[in-house]
Amino acid sequence: MTTSRALARVNLAAIERNCALLRSQIGAGVALCAVVKANGYGHGALQAARAAQAGGASWLAVAAAREAAELRAGRIEGPLLVLGALTADELDVALDADADVAAWSEEFVEQLGQRAARREPGADATAGSRDLRVHLKLDVGMGRLGTRDADALLRVGELVAATPGLALAGAMTHFPCADEDVELTARELDVFTAFGERLRELAPDALLHAANSAAAIALPASRLDMVRCGIAVYGLDPWGRDPAAHGLEPALELRSWVAALKPLAPGQTVGYGASFTATEPTWIATLPIGYGDGFRRAFSNNGVALLGGRRCPLVGRVSMDNVCIDVGPDPGALRVGDPAILIGTDGGERIAAEELAARIDTINYEITTALTARVVWEFHRDGVDA
Ligand SMILES: *Cc1c(COP(=O)(O)O)cnc(C)c1O
Repeated sequence: MTTSRALARVNLAAIERNCALLRSQIGAGVALCAVVKANGYGHGALQAARAAQAGGASWLAVAAAREAAELRAGRIEGPLLVLGALTADELDVALDADADVAAWSEEFVEQLGQRAARREPGADATAGSRDLRVHLKLDVGMGRLGTRDADALLRVGELVAATPGLALAGAMTHFPCADEDVELTARELDVFTAFGERLRELAPDALLHAANSAAAIALPASRLDMVRCGIAVYGLDPWGRDPAAHGLEPALELRSWVAALKPLAPGQTVGYGASFTATEPTWIATLPIGYGDGFRRAFSNNGVALLGGRRCPLVGRVSMDNVCIDVGPDPGALRVGDPAILIGTDGGERIAAEELAARIDTINYEITTALTARVVWEFHRDGVDA
């Protein structure tokens, strides 16, 4: 049996082991920052954050201010970095969450300086007098956030250093092709480290960080003072192939259950648009999970599920709340109420997030992150309820 129509079972021990493995690979002098944005890539941000910390992550990162606030509301402590751009309102939320922020413009640093002035002791006793910590963001090729102009960024750094209440905590960049082109990434790393050397004259203790999971694993020189790993923390492969090749263990299993089981005669159809027609007598198992749960509609006539330890094709369209699985002419011992695995293992069979991603031409990141709030999350440690 399963406890919910759409159940994400997350093995926190796997997250912990993935972090411990990354920790051991990057070496003692390098900090591990676990990226838990977007609900921990669909794994549950709070629980993933705690498991990552237990596995040796000393920093956490999120993309959005609200994500930082949610972690603090869940009593997650320790250094926390908001990676993304922030509106003025979001900046307040991030700072209230005692998060470090990324900056690349003088205008933004001026905003920060005004916040710091307001927070001076006496103005707000609870915020105390801790400096607001800034990480300068250099763009070495992503073309997204940050500035490409190292001279201008250094001036931004000087402004941070000269502004009361602000601290120049670090400098960062983000590689666009770490999973595809190590040589290009190494050249981009050189651009960043050249900037880092200049910055160190201004702030000798600034933390330099650049690597995502792929770079942390494949380009040791990119580890610098800290790596920011997301996908690998969850045991998913940055290259979209087999996580086991890097010793990583998938933490997430996605389950549903057989809510209906019925025969389908030749000529009869399944789902909206009648896009599947039986040519032979067969049996259809209906699982109450659909795109409303984040199980993508692109899996229509292109999906798979494990029922009774067997791989069975998804037939017809994925609807908002249900999918249909063709279990073949002989359902055997399969019964209504039996569990169905959409991501995970059953018997000797496995459906990996990487396989699902390949089926619909996307990446494993999007498969797990797609899970919606309608899904029920259950946490365990190697099978023992957590
Ligand atoms: C999401 C993100 C990461 C983590 O990337 P992975 O490929 O999941 O390891 C690191 N840095 C930044 C800036 C990010 O946005």
